[in-house]
Amino acid sequence: MLVIGAGPAGLAAARAAASHGVNVVLVDLQANPGGQIWRHDVRKSAPAAARLAVAEMRARSNLHWLPQAQVVATAPGRVLIEEAGLVREIEYGALVLATGARELLLPFPGWTLPGVSGAGALQALTKQGWPIAGKRVLLAGSGPLLLASAATLRRHGAQVLAICEQAPDAALMAFASQLWRWPGKLLQAAALRTRLAGVAYRRASWVRAAHGDERVREVEIESARGIERIACDQVAVGYGLVPNTELAAQLGCALELDGRHPRVRVDERLMTSVDGVYAAGEACGIGGVDVARVEGAMAGHAAAGADDAARALHPRRRHARAFADLLPRYFDLRDDVRKLAEPTTLVCRCEDVALAQLQGYSDARAAKLATRCGMGSCQGRICGTALTELGLLVPATRAHAARPPVFPTRLASLAAAGSYLDRSCSERTFLTESKGSV
Ligand SMILES: Cc1cc2nc3c(=O)[nH]c(=O)nc-3n(C[C@H](O)[C@H](O)[C@H](O)COP(=O)(O)OP(=O)(O)OC[C@H]3O[C@@H](n4cnc5c(N)ncnc54)[C@H](O)[C@@H]3O)c2cc1C
Repeated sequence: MLVIGAGPAGLAAARAAASHGVNVVLVDLQANPGGQIWRHDVRKSAPAAARLAVAEMRARSNLHWLPQAQVVATAPGRVLIEEAGLVREIEYGALVLATGARELLLPFPGWTLPGVSGAGALQALTKQGWPIAGKRVLLAGSGPLLLASAATLRRHGAQVLAICEQAPDAALMAFASQLWRWPGKLLQAAALRTRLAGVAYRRASWVRAAHGDERVREVEIESARGIERIACDQVAVGYGLVPNTELAAQLGCALELDGRHPRVRVDERLMTSVDGVYAAGEACGIGGVDVARVEGAMAGHAAAGADDAARALHPRRRHARAFADLLPRYFDLRDDVRKLAEPTTLVCRCEDVALAQLQGYSDARAAKLATRCGMGSCQGRICGTALTELGLLVPATRAHAARPPVFPTRLASLAAAGSYLDRSCSERTFLTESKGSV
């Protein structure tokens, strides 16, 4: 069995499947297991739950961990992986997609200035040693990730100026009033509040523009009080998360809309519409770490044929998903943040494509062919997602909407990935430097 993604969902899936004696290969493009929330922090040891999950993974002789292995293409029964400069193919009997989510970034004037980044992105960079100590950082956007990110930055010595949350006060109060049903979340919120004591949490406010010369010097904040300029060294903006569905789409798994963005459709055993392919965690809809862990375990059990063990976890899943359902309701994005980009604002940062150039294209392929939007190193992950949120692109939910490779790859991988384009191909004559089977 193959598990793609070693975040909380993938780790739980691999462990659950291995507990039934199945041989499991767990791959992740990162050097360390843990995914986004348990990303290796150079200054702080991982939380107990993460240490336990990783220790259990390493203790199992039938669970093989492949770090820095990037899955670039998938086809029924096989995946193509780039690992340590090699192209490798792995064949699988069952597959669990635990590919997580990415940040939703929305363009605004000045967002391409050095010093402006995603909120989760700055958190990730900081954990990996990016020098943030002493820097004046303003965070903005929406959702609980802003608080988690701010707490990490502060722990690493940043001067957090403020957190600007676009949601209105009433929505935030209503959200907080529900938290008693999830005591773990309540504790987490209280802990974050303590760690962020003294940091202004500005409700109903958002970044309008960033200003600077060679890098950001000032940020413009809008709220009911009007427009205010704040001097800063770094601006970190994130409007929540969006599921990573490219591999699932490539495999032909049905996707469905979760708000404006696609997620992988699964049944109650976490199986996708493709037989033997399961999905868990953020890929099936943004839900947070509790959802990821329980769904990972369910998918692992189900993929190993232990349906009873998977079914026993249903109540936990339902409870965790009920919390996840609150997030879009209370952190719903206001239209103001979708209207910030000006005609000259670059939307595709990789290929320098401005908003005005994209008017009139609602199909990603047509926009790509005419403007090169989405053809750079992010492969449309940032601009495509932003344009979908802005309502300018129709979200691609059809099966096989994503073509290989899913990441920019070496030429050898591209040559090999070619055969993954032809789904009717039964002959396996493509280039591989090594081959394994699980
Ligand atoms: C930038 C960022 C920061 C976050 N920080 C926090 C936080 O501080 N606190 C919090 O509560 N939540 C945070 N979250 C939310 C967090 O992602 C979830 O709560 C939880 O980690 C989801 O678990 P998961 O296993 O579903 O996905 P993830 O943890 O995202 O794990 C998915 C894994 O799949 C791997 N992967 C994806 N595609 C491929 C591929 N093609 N080949 C190989 N590997 C692949 C990725 O490298 C990743 O390790 C963050 C999310 C993001 C995007």
